[in-house]
Amino acid sequence: MESALSLVQDHAATRRGRRVTRVVLRIGELAGVDVDALRFAFDVVSRGTVAEGAAFQVEEVPALAHCGECGRDFASDDLVFICPTCGAPGGEFRSGREMELSRIELS
Ligand SMILES: [Zn+2]
Repeated sequence: MESALSLVQDHAATRRGRRVTRVVLRIGELAGVDVDALRFAFDVVSRGTVAEGAAFQVEEVPALAHCGECGRDFASDDLVFICPTCGAPGGEFRSGREMELSRIELS
């Protein structure tokens, strides 16, 4: 969380004197992130910074698996999955584990 906040501060520092009004993070549904805990942590670490009081928003990224057999991407929220098109087991996750800064809005 502190690394996400330092990204916010770096971003705001290039626009001197402006305050951060909104921070949007993209978090994969498999990232294992507790959004409520993250929101609380943001409130704490942003105190006294340009991001204090900013709205904190999370965009959830659905888990997508990729089938190596037929090349299809399909939604999966399970760690063990079977391709719905060709029935091949396995594959790899294409998205769903990320945690990144999506957008920052300044006043
Ligand atoms: Zn397949």
